[in-house]
Amino acid sequence: MSRIIGIDLGTTNSLAAVVDSGIPYVVADAEGQRLTPSVVHFPSRDGEPLVGRVAARSRAVKPRHTVYSVKRFMGRRASDLASEELQVNYPVQPSSTGGVAVEMHGRLWSPEEISAQVLRKLKHDVEVAIGEPITRAVITVPAYFNDSQRNATVKAGELAGLVVERIVNEPTAAALAYGLDKLAEHSLIAVYDLGGGTFDLSILELNNGVFQVLATHGNTRLGGDDLDRRIAEYLAEKIKEGGGPDVASSDVLSARVREAAEQAKIKLSTETGVEIQLPFLTEAWSFSLKLSRQKLEELTGPIIDRTRAHCVRSLADARLKAEDLNQVILVGGQTRMPLVRRKLAEWFGCAEFEEARGDLRLGETYHKAAGPVLNTSQNPDEAVALGAAIQAEILSGGFKNVLLLDVTPLSLGIETFGGLMNVIVPRNSTLPIKAGEMFTTAVDNQRNMLIHVLQGERERAADNWSLGRFELEFEPAPKGVPRVGVQFEIDANGILHVLARDIKTGHQTVVQIKSAVDVDDAAVQKMVEESVEHAFDDLKARQWIEAKVKAATDLPATRKAMSQFMAELDPEYKKQLEESLAGVEEALSTEDSKTRAGDVTRLKAALAQLDQVTVPLAEAQLDRLLGEMANQPPASPPSPSA
Ligand code: AMP
Repeated sequence: MSRIIGIDLGTTNSLAAVVDSGIPYVVADAEGQRLTPSVVHFPSRDGEPLVGRVAARSRAVKPRHTVYSVKRFMGRRASDLASEELQVNYPVQPSSTGGVAVEMHGRLWSPEEISAQVLRKLKHDVEVAIGEPITRAVITVPAYFNDSQRNATVKAGELAGLVVERIVNEPTAAALAYGLDKLAEHSLIAVYDLGGGTFDLSILELNNGVFQVLATHGNTRLGGDDLDRRIAEYLAEKIKEGGGPDVASSDVLSARVREAAEQAKIKLSTETGVEIQLPFLTEAWSFSLKLSRQKLEELTGPIIDRTRAHCVRSLADARLKAEDLNQVILVGGQTRMPLVRRKLAEWFGCAEFEEARGDLRLGETYHKAAGPVLNTSQNPDEAVALGAAIQAEILSGGFKNVLLLDVTPLSLGIETFGGLMNVIVPRNSTLPIKAGEMFTTAVDNQRNMLIHVLQGERERAADNWSLGRFELEFEPAPKGVPRVGVQFEIDANGILHVLARDIKTGHQTVVQIKSAVDVDDAAVQKMVEESVEHAFDDLKARQWIEAKVKAATDLPATRKAMSQFMAELDPEYKKQLEESLAGVEEALSTEDSKTRAGDVTRLKAALAQLDQVTVPLAEAQLDRLLGEMANQPPASPPSPSA
């Protein structure tokens, strides 16, 4: 088996790391640099794209053909992107599948294909550096990346010729790199990650070597790039004031100014003033400006302040106060900025910050008795990649002494109404774990509930593996009334116990299923691959079933309400109701007997139409009910809304 490498696929920079003789380290790329810019330059339509530092250099001179920050577009729908997100110097457009496509010399590229170019370079450079072929990787993603963004990351890995053994959340990887898994005691850790294009604040709980993400909040559109943009705007104003060209009018000028802005920002992390020089902005006009750290902080402070709300929300979600935290760790290149560290120390009450003493420097920790330690002991650019390498080593069977418990190889859940998989314990959850959910009945007077325990990554119950079934009996009641709690408990050995309890009577059944962890690696791999392969069809199937379940409730409910008011219904309104019902029936009939999916857009539209038309009917029902309760004459019959 080949070695597994750890990859931090960043918005601005990407890194690859490996563990050698128990020591994790970042592998320098072919140019001898540890950080590889996540930038791809396309010199021509069919020529080999250039990746990394060479490509980053092209950004200033050939901005139109140089792609950066493509992570922002990974797995996202063009229609969900705000206009400012689309503000990049290269052309982007909606793709035929609703995603984002980048147009280079007349050819369209998906964000996954572009990320694959970055991954391929990392893979190749590691192979050259360690002299072994690499085919497997652990890749990190922000904790709040959704399924589609995670799937896009897996796809990028595959396109680069890598089997993605695991997708790991960036904060968990960072905590591993900071060595926090070795803290024996119970600890609460905040991971503040401000990179080039994304920000998140995650709260992790460490209990006997097991990490759990308690809360995470962030913004995929907030990062160092925003600071660069703000500084560039300021420079453009100064250029204009000084009689220079309109920067916005030229892509090349915009890119040059943006690059100068970023360089100044980075220098100002260690210096208190810099001179920005931009020679020959036009043939006869050059620009230079002295920028102080104070001015930089004035310009960018409000952007850093935007991260605070996410910190507050994460703490609130985890039901913690800042002083409950033991450590705040820093991740992402932008956290090298002194202002970021100062603000964090202040917000989290980390250090008795003295303006005169200067900045919190790399490698030092500051704390006061009541507040958490602001731990800057690791290189914030490398922590995530190192953590990914540590995770990779654990997966390879190394680091046996690391107190990191096993994880669930596949998701576990139960079948719900309509034949869908309802996940209770997601794939990769650390063991031991206890998780539960409340369910109810979908049919009147149901006497029992069949608990069908499933394992797998597919949306439809039938496409997953059945681990067992059992029944829980309860007193008959109208649908939606019984409340059944289903709890999954997996012990450290991977034994799954499923408990189902009727909340009203306390009656419960517990069954021991079987090892939920001991699954053949190849079978897991196959299941995961299939889930990626069928992701699109599965999503369509889920949407269809969900809409069908709604139709199964709404159709009889509307018919029942209509029969209650039959005599009083305005004929015109009755016609509207009947047409809407027929619309839903027709949409339902589009179901294909083979794929068991139909025209979901049509069904959703028909259901929305029915919802709208039935508003007066529902109101009349409510009025009548209230009238009966108050012993008043029945409400007037409903009529169509205007
Ligand atoms: P990452 O996504 O973690 O690679 O972070 C990249 C971001 O960190 C970019 O916006 C960089 O401009 C910024 N950055 C890197 N080094 C520094 C530094 N020394 N001071 C301020 N910002 C930095």
